[in-house]
Amino acid sequence: MKIATFGISHETNTFSSIPATYKEFENYGIERKEGIFEKFKDSNYTIAGYIEASKDLNFELVPLLFAQTGPIGTITSDAYEKLSNEIFSMLEKEGPWDGVLISNHGAAVAEGFNDMDGEFCKSIRSIVGNIPIGITLDMHANISQKIIDQTDICIVWKTNPHLDAKVRGYRCADLIYKTIKKEINPKQSISCPPLLVNIVKQFTGQSPMKELVAQTNKIAKENKVLDTSIAEGYPYSDVEKMGMSWITITDDDKQLADNLSKKMSLFGWSKREELNESVWPIENALNHAVKNYKGPKLNDDKNTIAKNGIALDDIEKSNHSKFGPIVLMDVGDNIGGGSSADSTHILDVAMKLKINNILQTLYDPESVKQCLTRNIGDSITLKVGGKSDSLHGKPLEVTGKIYYISNGKYSDEGATHAGFKFFNDGKSVVLKTIDGNTILLTSNRGGNTSINQMYFNQINPESFKIIIAKGVVSPRPAYQPIASQILLVNSPGVTTSDLSFFNYKNIRKNMYPFDKNTNYQ
Ligand SMILES: [Zn+2]
Repeated sequence: MKIATFGISHETNTFSSIPATYKEFENYGIERKEGIFEKFKDSNYTIAGYIEASKDLNFELVPLLFAQTGPIGTITSDAYEKLSNEIFSMLEKEGPWDGVLISNHGAAVAEGFNDMDGEFCKSIRSIVGNIPIGITLDMHANISQKIIDQTDICIVWKTNPHLDAKVRGYRCADLIYKTIKKEINPKQSISCPPLLVNIVKQFTGQSPMKELVAQTNKIAKENKVLDTSIAEGYPYSDVEKMGMSWITITDDDKQLADNLSKKMSLFGWSKREELNESVWPIENALNHAVKNYKGPKLNDDKNTIAKNGIALDDIEKSNHSKFGPIVLMDVGDNIGGGSSADSTHILDVAMKLKINNILQTLYDPESVKQCLTRNIGDSITLKVGGKSDSLHGKPLEVTGKIYYISNGKYSDEGATHAGFKFFNDGKSVVLKTIDGNTILLTSNRGGNTSINQMYFNQINPESFKIIIAKGVVSPRPAYQPIASQILLVNSPGVTTSDLSFFNYKNIRKNMYPFDKNTNYQ
């Protein structure tokens, strides 16, 4: 049994001014053939699940090409043509195939194709013909009917932060294997109500997402049901397919799949108000943190963190759970969502309020360069952050000592969002300011999804009062183990939770929460 695997994985922020060119994909790393296995074999990403299934079930998995970038703007037609054509010609030349396993993100938009993922699946179907096609998508996928029509098995990750990418990849591979062996005859169905879940309500360890996922897990165990998925969707993509969706795959019962997808989506619809509640203003969040900080945890105590593949729950109550830093999630500067990584909005307010003992990162290659002309221990005055655009605050003047310099390359074998293992922040500098804050200046827009980012730079995040993490959910696996509280902050920026900031033109007209009177039944 011979199965091809490949993917073009992109979360397209159509409001971003940085187009996803072929060069952007190249910079991120386009992997071919064995390079794909090298990159993912020890990770917890989808393809690691495909690899493991191929060993357990004893089929030949043939890697072709895998391309991704960070969540920047629309994919240029040149990039899509080049990447997809290379995959298509590999598929044609190296066949025949018994099956196909795709690893896409599911929220990709290319010039000319508002539904790049659907178009991609359609082209693959026309090349490989009537053989089982499986696809595994990120929980932020905006999933179209076309994807469901052109594939046999569509599996979506079920945890946010995404800790089950490998597990769900394995599931997809297993179902495709059984389909090839004719042990099952999958029928899938999708329901896409005109509904989005605000980015600040997407953590699957808290209500209402927790209940919605639990329902899909319960239904997945019912008779004749092979799998269920729930996708949160990606709200920064101005396309018709944007929004939540529910998928059911049954063994040879389309009507049942239709009914169950509908049932799950109606439960989601009933939670629409809670799915769109707002979060803390900056000043309130900072004042709350100062008032509620009780000191560091003792005796190396840590909150329980999910094992790989298991959903992360909220911070559990324990004798030490009230101790530890208070983590403020900088929602407007969600690096994983396509933001600038250099927002100074929260730090600015904190400095004005004279709040200190804060830890945060700032993308600022210019300041890093200035520091590199000096030595460790030197004092320096810099204008940090706020340089990428006009949306993420002004550069702030800070004076401090250069505490540490690194190459910014670290790894994490523990639970990280989407299961990635290797990280590269570029040349990085730790600055300890005279007003008592620590700023990690980076040369790449690295993100805050691994706590090793701090340990690697000789920083003990446990010792801070406040940690400003750039993201919404993805920093949770990194910081929840040491935090006493995690607050989501309604900060401005390109990934703000305030959706009135965006000028949507192409989404469905009756989307909740934009149309509060809209109906779905
Ligand atoms: Zn995601």
